Amino acid sequence: MKIKSMRYFLIYLILLSEFSLAQSAEKIHVNAILADTHNDFLSKAVDAHVVFDTDLRGITQSDLARMRTGGVDVQVWSIFCDEHYGRGSAFKYASRELDSLYAIAGRNPKTMQIVYSYKELIKAVQAHKLACLSGVEGGHMIEDNLDYLDSFYIRGVRYMTLSWNNSTSWSTSAMDEKQHTFKVTPYGLNDFGKQVVKKMNRLGMMVDVSHVGEKTFWDVMSVTTKPVIASHSSVYALCPVFRNLKDDQIKAIAKNGGVIQVNFYSGFLDSTFLPKYDSFLKAHHAEYDSIAPREKSGMMIGDYFSKKYKDEFEKMRPPFSLLLDHIDYIVKLVGVDYVGLGSDFDGIDSAPAGLDGVQDFPRITQGLLQRGYSEKDIKKILGGNFLRVFKANE
Ligand SMILES: [Zn+2]
Repeated sequence: MKIKSMRYFLIYLILLSEFSLAQSAEKIHVNAILADTHNDFLSKAVDAHVVFDTDLRGITQSDLARMRTGGVDVQVWSIFCDEHYGRGSAFKYASRELDSLYAIAGRNPKTMQIVYSYKELIKAVQAHKLACLSGVEGGHMIEDNLDYLDSFYIRGVRYMTLSWNNSTSWSTSAMDEKQHTFKVTPYGLNDFGKQVVKKMNRLGMMVDVSHVGEKTFWDVMSVTTKPVIASHSSVYALCPVFRNLKDDQIKAIAKNGGVIQVNFYSGFLDSTFLPKYDSFLKAHHAEYDSIAPREKSGMMIGDYFSKKYKDEFEKMRPPFSLLLDHIDYIVKLVGVDYVGLGSDFDGIDSAPAGLDGVQDFPRITQGLLQRGYSEKDIKKILGGNFLRVFKANE
């Protein structure tokens, strides 16, 4: 063969192998049960009045059609309000978000179903419906009242993040433990906090350790009798921010049979992102001050800036490969059985390049396959590991 035709032949072979890789990735993706354990759309539904079952391209990172395109089978919807909601208002606000989820699912009985058990979940997925669970992101929403846990459970809440960035009276958050801003001592879980964990174990509501402080984390691990979940956290060793998990925490979760659902936020994946983001905010501080009173949350402010300064945000995005690095890291540290996906879509204003929204989940399957993961292991990461933990909590 002449050199020139040899070169064409090689290009042909490369294209052929890429084509077959893409084909097998698609097949694996379709056959796997993809479970994302953190999506903040409901906050936007209530705050910004966006409607999930309409075309929201260019407006949000999620909508029903794109979730179908992305092959999402199970969505755990985040029920969230921040520290400005306290006694008398937090539970009410959380309930409004749940109402919103019920309304969306009620309008779309052929494509969505709120499920309450592992068995129901599998049935819904087999019927090609989006199986919906929810997770309360912040223990302040039970307003120190254990009866509210029952109410949440009855309505399909299957995990609770013990604290968000704000501590509760019974558990310190990662942010407060790091900044030493929590005034009540001791740190960690107090007796009521231990009761909360025990009650969650009894109910079959997963204990979520994303956002909690290290002291709280270790207290949880000594109290819980069920596997825990970190619904949206990444690896501290690769990106040392207070929201990520250190190696000994990752090992403890694996030992407990739990799962770490990797967060897609650029600031939790790429250690260079937050300094860049800070410089951006400094450069736009006047505008920040002018819109801050109007926007309802930090999330909405981020949303505003990321849309208005699209090019600047584009430049700050880390490469897609970094998300896979975080997954790889956990797999190498503790094995393939303890990692999954907790995107945080519609709660974040930046994700790695190529991950623009829920429609892009197939890229993760492709990336894992390219890195040499087997079909069996990819299925575990996409949802199998989370489903194991969900089932074990029932
Ligand atoms: Zn969060």
